[in-house]
Amino acid sequence: MLRKFASYYGPHKKLFILDMVCAFLIAAIDLVFPMVTRRITDQIIPNGELRSLYIIAAIMLGLFVVRAMLNYIVDYWGHVVGTRMEYDMRGDLFSHLQTLPFSYFDKNRTGHIMSRMVNDLREISELAHHGPEDLFLSIVMLIGSFILMANINLGLTLIVFAFIPLMLFFALKKRKKMTNAFREVRKKIANVNSQLENSISGIRVSKSFTNEEYEMDKFAEGNTEFRVSREFAFKTMAEFFTGMNFLSNLLNLVVITAGGIFLFNKLITIGDLLAYLLFVNLFMQPIRRLTQFTQQFQSGMTGFERFIEILNIKPDIEDSPNAKGLEEVKGNIKFNHVTFSYDEEETVLSEINLQVDHGKTLALVGPSGGGKSTLCHLIPRFYEVSSGNITIDGMDIRDITMKSLRKNIGFVQQDVFLFTGTIEENILYGRPDATEKEVVEAAKNANIHDFILTLPDGYKTYIGEKGIRLSGGQKQRISIARVFLKNPPILILDEATSALDNETEIKIQKALEELSKGRTTIVIAHRLSTIKNADQIVVLTDKGIIENGNHNELLENDGLYSKLYKSQFKGYMPDEVA
Ligand code: ADP
Repeated sequence: MLRKFASYYGPHKKLFILDMVCAFLIAAIDLVFPMVTRRITDQIIPNGELRSLYIIAAIMLGLFVVRAMLNYIVDYWGHVVGTRMEYDMRGDLFSHLQTLPFSYFDKNRTGHIMSRMVNDLREISELAHHGPEDLFLSIVMLIGSFILMANINLGLTLIVFAFIPLMLFFALKKRKKMTNAFREVRKKIANVNSQLENSISGIRVSKSFTNEEYEMDKFAEGNTEFRVSREFAFKTMAEFFTGMNFLSNLLNLVVITAGGIFLFNKLITIGDLLAYLLFVNLFMQPIRRLTQFTQQFQSGMTGFERFIEILNIKPDIEDSPNAKGLEEVKGNIKFNHVTFSYDEEETVLSEINLQVDHGKTLALVGPSGGGKSTLCHLIPRFYEVSSGNITIDGMDIRDITMKSLRKNIGFVQQDVFLFTGTIEENILYGRPDATEKEVVEAAKNANIHDFILTLPDGYKTYIGEKGIRLSGGQKQRISIARVFLKNPPILILDEATSALDNETEIKIQKALEELSKGRTTIVIAHRLSTIKNADQIVVLTDKGIIENGNHNELLENDGLYSKLYKSQFKGYMPDEVA
């Protein structure tokens, strides 16, 4: 895992090395200062070498200017390395997410994926930048000062260093408590945020049920938990800093007392004692850095492991090595003994045999949960058949490149999704290289052009979060325009179950009829007119295909279809039947 982590430094190697070298030089300059002070106190002043004092002061000034520059490089370019690594990882993660199959998104909620993209990567970035620098700087500082101090007096140095494990132990313990407490605070604020979002989105429902008080109570609970967790986090923070300050004073006291005794016994000089005091104060920084590093390492590596876990998920549906593109598609679709299940437990489709000829329309009807959507999702390979096969013009869809397969299939979903952006951009999603004229043509075919012209910015009108709101019927027609522009030979339609007003309904119906012309169409049908006009009707239930034929044949058959037709049809094929 560490090696994998290190590999992300690869492209930024030069910057990283620069960062480390500068960090090393900073530590070296910091270590020089106590030694210089010692020399001034013990030699230069007693010998009255005022000239040397000025020279040393001038040299130190130069070193401090260099240190300031090094500091700037570490602070700025060090963060740049972290940011660039995070950028690379985020790009990798996003590209990988695009390749993952539907089944991954079925199992993982959006919020969960977002948290991977945002929180984990931020923790990793912090570790990437501060981790090596903190570790390296602290070790250089501690070893460097130990050597220099031991050179002055080994006994006193050992007394001082005996204190360090105690400080590290305290700092690690308290820091861990503090990190956990602040993690808890982040969880609680996330709860408050999601509760807030939920409540505001559902404000119409709570008002209509006059449940405002219930909502307030629920919110107060989360809000209180957040406050309590925050107060506790500040308590741990106060404990950490108070303790560290006390220990640092204690260390100074140890140095001045033990040092005083050593000085009294003429084992060290005044300059030595002064240098010790300065060294001791330099220690505090590496101790803080080391404790920070252990925490950062923990959370950064946990985030990185989760990041790698996602990157390691293989797309289970991929192009086979000899996959070909489709050419001059006619659109004959055939299901041969198709069986499918989402998981081991339940078989959703079993032994499905079906044929739709070029340019014909097949209506799928049947009770909810019968497998109509599932069957449709198998054709563009959103999910892979468990056994049997599906062919297009005689070619197994697994031997067709996914790109070519999906280019030749248009999908009109029941729940239309439009991206935040302009209407034009949304239609262009069907074929990004289309001309403006073609976009207008598609919109006209979808019966939405006239409406678009009434909008303030026409095709450039912004829709989505900060833009205008469209009705369900308008969204539907934009999504139909998208498919017109794509112009695929095969069409899959999921007819809306919700009733629209008559005029909208006619507009959509007309657009869909126009869209189906000359294309092989499979429609999950709810409207009687759609069903009656279909060339073929398939009744699909959890027992498989129980009827297959045209309207008249199925009526004669006197089975489920005819029962539904006689008892229930009032323009819609009800969902809950059978
Ligand atoms: P229909 O479109 O006829 O209403 P579906 O194809 O949506 O039927 O559902 C068929 C069965 O498959 C149902 O039992 C449903 O719970 C299950 N199912 C649908 N989608 C998924 C999914 N993404 N993961 C697991 N099971 C699913």
